Amino acid sequence: MPAYLCPSCKTNRSRFNIIEQHPKAVKMDPRSGDVVQEYGPGEQDAFHAAYQGPALRVQCGACGLVEDEKTFAAFAEHNQLN
Ligand SMILES: [Zn+2]
Repeated sequence: MPAYLCPSCKTNRSRFNIIEQHPKAVKMDPRSGDVVQEYGPGEQDAFHAAYQGPALRVQCGACGLVEDEKTFAAFAEHNQLN
């Protein structure tokens, strides 16, 4: 994992909640919202776009900001500890 620095409170480099995203493709009944089918990886039909978002989100353990991992990593990269 890269070093993180929170871009909101700008002080927290050590306390984070790592949010692992495990998207599940589903087909829902349009009226009831009931899930009528769940798809495994790559199984969804041709009109169903696969998840494109990040695998990880990160929450700052100090101020609560939730952002993509790369946002925290980029801020640390530009504000390195001496
Ligand atoms: Zn923060």
